[in-house]
Amino acid sequence: MEITSMTQAMQLHARILKSGGAYDSTHAQDFHKLFTFSALSPAGDLNYARHILRTLHTPNSFYYNTMIRAYSDSPDPTHAFALFLHMQNPDDPSVAVPQPDHFTYPFVLKACSKSGHARFGKQIHGLVFKSGVGSDRYINNALIHFYSASGDPSLALKVFDKMPDRDVVSWTSIIDGFVDNERPIEAIGLFTHMIENGIEPNEVTVASVLRACADTGALNTGKRIHSFVKEKDFSSNANVSTALIDMYAKCGCIDGALQVFDETIDKDVYVWTAIIAGLASHGLCMKAIEFFEDMKKSDVKMDERAITAVLSAYRNAGLVSEGLSFFRRLKKHKIRPTIQHYGCIVDMLTRAGRLKDAEEFIRKMPIEPDAVLWRTLIWGCKLLGDVERSERLVRELELLNMDSRDTGSYVLLENVYAATGKWEEKAKTRELMYQRGLMKPPACSRIEIEGVVHEFTAGDSRHDEATTVFEKLEEVEERLRGEGYNPIVSEVLLEIDDDEKASQLLHHSEKLAVSFGLMKSSPGSVIRIVKNLRSCEDCHSFMKLISKVYQRDIIVRDRIRFHHFSGGNCSCGDHW
Ligand code: ZN
Ligand code: ZN
Repeated sequence: MEITSMTQAMQLHARILKSGGAYDSTHAQDFHKLFTFSALSPAGDLNYARHILRTLHTPNSFYYNTMIRAYSDSPDPTHAFALFLHMQNPDDPSVAVPQPDHFTYPFVLKACSKSGHARFGKQIHGLVFKSGVGSDRYINNALIHFYSASGDPSLALKVFDKMPDRDVVSWTSIIDGFVDNERPIEAIGLFTHMIENGIEPNEVTVASVLRACADTGALNTGKRIHSFVKEKDFSSNANVSTALIDMYAKCGCIDGALQVFDETIDKDVYVWTAIIAGLASHGLCMKAIEFFEDMKKSDVKMDERAITAVLSAYRNAGLVSEGLSFFRRLKKHKIRPTIQHYGCIVDMLTRAGRLKDAEEFIRKMPIEPDAVLWRTLIWGCKLLGDVERSERLVRELELLNMDSRDTGSYVLLENVYAATGKWEEKAKTRELMYQRGLMKPPACSRIEIEGVVHEFTAGDSRHDEATTVFEKLEEVEERLRGEGYNPIVSEVLLEIDDDEKASQLLHHSEKLAVSFGLMKSSPGSVIRIVKNLRSCEDCHSFMKLISKVYQRDIIVRDRIRFHHFSGGNCSCGDHW
């Protein structure tokens, strides 16, 4: 009989006990069945499963492994640790407890990644060594995943490098680990390596490396992977289609994204969301909204991500009243707005200069506003010069922030202090960031030249051709100054004089990347740059001028959106 509910499971258990049955050969199968159901079924009961395990006198490793697996999937994976420790040191030595085997470790490691217990995970790694299962592929794959999930892809790579035999899962895990930890260039390198080693990537690998291409703006590499997808007939996989659409959109090639979308047969909510978000980020807001209407007509159930994409379309287009009425209509669709949705509205009101409305909107929210929302508003106050409001909000944020781990809030405080000349407060904020181990991520711009991604950080001389790049940049600046370029020194938030500020501005990462682009790409071709943070006003006007003076189209994707610079103008209309 198949068990389908806990009631049935308990009835079966009662029957076994009544017949005086312990865990013996006659009842083994029934125990197995009711235990597996209690532990693993969504309709099961973990506590009951644990109770059954306690009553068994000689449970084999299957019972322990299943229980640990169930805990590792549960909301509190740390229960898995206690059971694992019990396997090593049973409280009652007279009870026979099986030793951990090669199935046990991967589940415990999963519990470590999910609960963020990195130290315990490292100890497990030590035990794996000692117990002589260190070459087991299944365990090593779990270790790669564990180290990646704990934010240490370099350690994951060490495990990977030492593996005697690696399968497609090992390669995919290591590539995914680097992508997740924002090291996409290494991820692309590993993918190339994988192909060279004759390992056939699967759909998961391909989706993962496409994400790396999207992050770096590596359009040519992305196109090569697209050909591979066609060749291997992966196109019917919705995850792959989503990744392709996202890659084309983020690499500035919205036509490519639209084409993939058209060719996708099974369009799930992710495919739709990817194209809507792509269109919105390219400023094609009306088209994004049109697609959303089409999506509603299809039988795909819309989810919160699709809503975020539409709201960002309204925001980017500056369609405030339309955006607000769309937001109000969400209730009709029985959708409860998420913090991201509120964020879009706050951003939209702020950009429209409606600071008071934005503040009221935040104060009336039914859910707790996070630091990001306040930050959006304070940035707006700073841009629009509403000093009174920004200082008042900053004081509130400071209180809110006493023990925050949100790096962005500190950076914002620093910026507000710098803008108002409060250097001492600025220094204190920085000090606090250091103390709490929260460093501001360095601004970094990437550009792909002939299939190789080059990375520049501000004032960075690590690039192989750094000297020539700096020379080229100076030459560009001189030419632009002749055309009326005047550095916007108020963008530099340091206590230094204007000359020095100008030279700091000059070495912003996107300026280095664009100079490199001018050096290395063929005349007339589009220069594509991806930046991890928001562009500053000075870099923005610098790019506009280059597009005119050098007659080159430049596409910059910053953290927020795309800028298509052409003939001295930008597609964002100077709103970003
Ligand atoms: Zn800049
Ligand atoms: Zn722009």
